[in-house]
Amino acid sequence: MKKVLLIILICISFVIGCKSFSKPDNDVSLVDAVSDKIVDTAIVKSYTIYGRFFNLEGELDTKPENLMLVLKSDDVEQEYNLYTEEENGKFKFKTTKLINKGINLEEIKEGEYLVLLKSEIKTEDDAEVKYYTLEDKSNYEPLTYYTITRNSANKKINIEFKKNENLSLLKLNCEKVKLPSDIYDVVIDAGHGGNDPGATKNGYSESDINLDYAKSLKESLAASGLKIKLTRESDESIPTYGLKSRVGIPYETKAKLLISIHQNSAVTNIGVGGVEIYVANNADTEFASTVVKNIVEGTSTDYSSNKENKILPGVYLRTLKKSDIEAMSKTATKEGYEPYPLASTNSTYYYIIRETGGVVTGAYVDNRNKEKPWNTYYNSNHGTEGYLFELGYINSSKNLKILIDEKDKYIEAIKKSILDYLEI
Ligand SMILES: [Zn+2]
Repeated sequence: MKKVLLIILICISFVIGCKSFSKPDNDVSLVDAVSDKIVDTAIVKSYTIYGRFFNLEGELDTKPENLMLVLKSDDVEQEYNLYTEEENGKFKFKTTKLINKGINLEEIKEGEYLVLLKSEIKTEDDAEVKYYTLEDKSNYEPLTYYTITRNSANKKINIEFKKNENLSLLKLNCEKVKLPSDIYDVVIDAGHGGNDPGATKNGYSESDINLDYAKSLKESLAASGLKIKLTRESDESIPTYGLKSRVGIPYETKAKLLISIHQNSAVTNIGVGGVEIYVANNADTEFASTVVKNIVEGTSTDYSSNKENKILPGVYLRTLKKSDIEAMSKTATKEGYEPYPLASTNSTYYYIIRETGGVVTGAYVDNRNKEKPWNTYYNSNHGTEGYLFELGYINSSKNLKILIDEKDKYIEAIKKSILDYLEI
């Protein structure tokens, strides 16, 4: 019996031994290829994923010429632009100015990469190349990204800082995988539900219209091969924060895009009507503009006539005003809980956009108010690109009729815009 056990033990240790030697350490070969050109280490202050985009920012003590960011594998070196500026004697760099731009993770090919800064000084017949390794000085977690489902296939990208002897390295690894069952491409949120009907008119409730649209949009996008998650499947109340909540689901599913569907209702300016799409602050508005244009061209509805918070035809940006923050602070104090001083006038007003983008969109509903529900992911460096769609004003009989009669046209316009934006 003892002999059998001994043989089993020897077999197990042999298998473990083989496993650890079966894969050569690619870190070493990647570093070896550039080691004689590494001149310094740059400090990374922040690295994030928002939607499909990976971005980082940091600083150097000196100013290198022609600085860019590179993803370097054994056989390719992919180059990315950097935005740079000098501030307080430091040389600062970042990969994007707009939160939904930067390094598109969908475009990365399978392989192992080192993320480096590269300075290249070209002379007449030669080029002097210097590399800078990256050292993490953020408090952020390593990142795991799953690419959007294309032809039923997905890739997984891990982004992580590692020590290699005395070098600090940022590594990116991209491999084909089977998508885990709890990971999704897009989350669609039907606003309101259960004991909260939202706006109502002539027996119609916003929550029902939202759910009907959300379900149809899910079906339509799923038919194009995308994996879609709804925040609610029926007329039910769901929590705003916590596990399986409106805010939690986009993080839990690592969704690339979040569409929150609502219908508007005017209280004072009752003549107003049309479609409005709300975007995050500091974001490129191309997607929102395309959605509105496709809806206006594909249905009988029009660009909204509402002028408040309008930045482009049908595109709206509402950020927290000083007065909003003061009002929030007053309510908090009155109700006996701590206000959120972190809220700034750069934060997006609507929580469904702000609280689902983590640090990128300035999520701030943390747990300082012990009795209040809070956003478990408020300090996450991996967020979802969020939009709030107000498809029409249900207090307007004309808008309501279009919403009911032309749902299929709306869905077709939104589906087309999403597929184009995600490059499906
Ligand atoms: Zn609503």
